Amino acid sequence: MKVLVLNCGSSSIKYQFIDTDRKFALAKGQVERIGMASAVLTHEPHNRDKIRIVGEILDHTIAIEYVLAVMLSPNHGVIRDKSEIDAVGHRVVHGGETFSGSVLVTEKVMDALKDNIELAPLHNPPNIRGIEAAKKHMPDTPQCGVFDTAFHVKMPPRAYLYGIPYELYRRHKIRRYGFHGTSHRFVSLRAADLMNKPYNELKIITAHLGNGGSMAAVKFGQSIDTTMGFTPLEGLLMGTRCGDMDPSVIVYIMGKEGLNLGEANTLMNKHSGLVGLSGGSSDMREIEEAVAEGDKKAKNAFDVFTYRIKKYIGAYASAMGGVDAVVFTGGIGENSSNVRKAVCEEMEFIGIELDDVKNENAKGEMDLSKDNSKVRILRIPTNEELVIAMDTEQIVKEQLESA
Ligand code: ADP
Repeated sequence: MKVLVLNCGSSSIKYQFIDTDRKFALAKGQVERIGMASAVLTHEPHNRDKIRIVGEILDHTIAIEYVLAVMLSPNHGVIRDKSEIDAVGHRVVHGGETFSGSVLVTEKVMDALKDNIELAPLHNPPNIRGIEAAKKHMPDTPQCGVFDTAFHVKMPPRAYLYGIPYELYRRHKIRRYGFHGTSHRFVSLRAADLMNKPYNELKIITAHLGNGGSMAAVKFGQSIDTTMGFTPLEGLLMGTRCGDMDPSVIVYIMGKEGLNLGEANTLMNKHSGLVGLSGGSSDMREIEEAVAEGDKKAKNAFDVFTYRIKKYIGAYASAMGGVDAVVFTGGIGENSSNVRKAVCEEMEFIGIELDDVKNENAKGEMDLSKDNSKVRILRIPTNEELVIAMDTEQIVKEQLESA
């Protein structure tokens, strides 16, 4: 099956056109600066040159029109007719408590997505606009929604409840939701495959470390806890987000610095984390370069970043009553041997023993642990688009079978 995977943000659309039989992208690209006069479309068909088109793209409907046009173009295209797109898979950030798995988008699903806008005011509206735009251009093509939150929805109450009046959970749905679910699901499944063991017998800790970062405790194939919370702000230190913090700190800063709610939100989401602590960059490569040059603030940022991951490994091993594997993924998890080394230092007591040579030479899917390490330490590149495409294929096939 050929699935167009769309990830629609407020001013951008990332896409991949995936052949699910071969598990491979025939083309990928993105539209950036939607709504501006000089929007940019970059399109890269497999094994051919990347192209870049600049033009006025006022909204998501026009952006998808451009994407379809370039996919159909004689020189850079990958299809001859729109009907070659068997289905469209949409990444949707927040499914609230409604969705514990991927779904075929129906009118009822659209209503539920709209009901969840309050929970993700920045993410869900562009996701909805993307679905509406795709439906407009491809009215007869099945559209599926794959949620970042779905993998975590079945966490037990002890993991998702906050210590605030229960009524607030009932009234406003304030609870831990967790995000990056497609990535945690994908890499934990791959880990079981690599280890050649049944998924539902393993205790796996997954660390998705990109600009945003989160970890999950995956026990017997089920996420039982995760570091991100009501929003993607909680948990690990991230590129620009503060992660865990005493909630009083923000109230105190608002008073001291005279910040309003919006400014406080921006401070925690955009000016904190690696960039806030280092006073320089949110990019781990640049942090590591600065550390190598002896920059103390960058070293603090690096240490807080890795220490928190280490603490959560301990916490999740306790939560699961043991751990069989730790998986590193995302731009930092896959590429930073320094981060992996710092995280795994002095973890022998729990059975985590990193092989320094393997760690330095890591590539592809790889076991980085010493042969006698009780816990496997795995590098597994994530592929959220492939998960979306595979889920979409499964839903469409089930639909056809039941028709
Ligand atoms: P996003 O969350 O935006 O998808 P990515 O998963 O692409 O982000 O991760 C981006 C992060 O990965 C950046 O902090 C970047 O510095 C880091 N990164 C990429 N390559 C390396 C590398 N070789 N060494 C250290 N960090 C890296």
